[in-house]
Amino acid sequence: MKVVLAKSAGFCFGVKRAIQIAFDTAETRERIASLGPLIHSPQMVQKLEEKGVHVVRGPEGVKCDTAIVRSHGVTAGELDELQQRGVAVVDATCPFVKKAQDYSAALRDGGYIVVVIGEADHPEVQGIVSYAGENAVIVANAQEAERLPASRRIGIVAQTTQSMENFREVVNVCLNKAQELRLFNTICDATSVRQEEARQISQQADMVLVVGGFNSANTTRLAQICTEIQPRTHHVETAGELQADWFEGIETVGVTAGASTPEWIIREIVETIETYEK
Ligand code: SF4
Repeated sequence: MKVVLAKSAGFCFGVKRAIQIAFDTAETRERIASLGPLIHSPQMVQKLEEKGVHVVRGPEGVKCDTAIVRSHGVTAGELDELQQRGVAVVDATCPFVKKAQDYSAALRDGGYIVVVIGEADHPEVQGIVSYAGENAVIVANAQEAERLPASRRIGIVAQTTQSMENFREVVNVCLNKAQELRLFNTICDATSVRQEEARQISQQADMVLVVGGFNSANTTRLAQICTEIQPRTHHVETAGELQADWFEGIETVGVTAGASTPEWIIREIVETIETYEK
């Protein structure tokens, strides 16, 4: 049986960096509060918990003197609250997300109505919009952008995981809404690269395994993409969920994993598949 492992499987740059920062900080502090799970991998969250990094829902839940901000950032208000309470903040916000926050603040200061393209209830979007001023608007797509009033100056940023197609469609609508339009392409290609590779692997394989947290939106999306092309796709979190009968008659297995799947879990999956050959 041939195993085709996606080159992009596993941590993206921002998640890898945040995990490293958390483990490094845990070397010097006894307890650290993580504002939300640092990563959508229950197995990694458990490892961090063993090192003293415990998850809290928001600043009000922080009962120790250090808090870590995860890769998709927090709102300006949450950051203020922590600082006012004297909590030391370890900022693991991904630099790409930070850029989107900074561009939002610059557009706000420049007098633009800031349009943030993204999912309104996503913490990353809530963080970005918190820097964008009181007139900022979140739009999910071109249909929502159509409802925006005409404005003299509109500035646009996007949630880092947005597709370029959606970004272009919203920009096109805003071209007719503003005398002056300024936009920053804040899209990170980590998501699109993983999705494109998942498509390619699904076309070559007789079965696909998508590895990652069931609570991870990007892993779930990968599983949907693979299933559309190869119906014999299974989304698993760990090697313990693999079933030998899935592999009967299979010649090529494709393996991919979300941006928050630890490398050791992917390795265990591949090693377990190899035992089915014997
Ligand atoms: S997907 Fe991109 S922006 Fe988001 S954490 Fe990963 S590297 Fe950073």
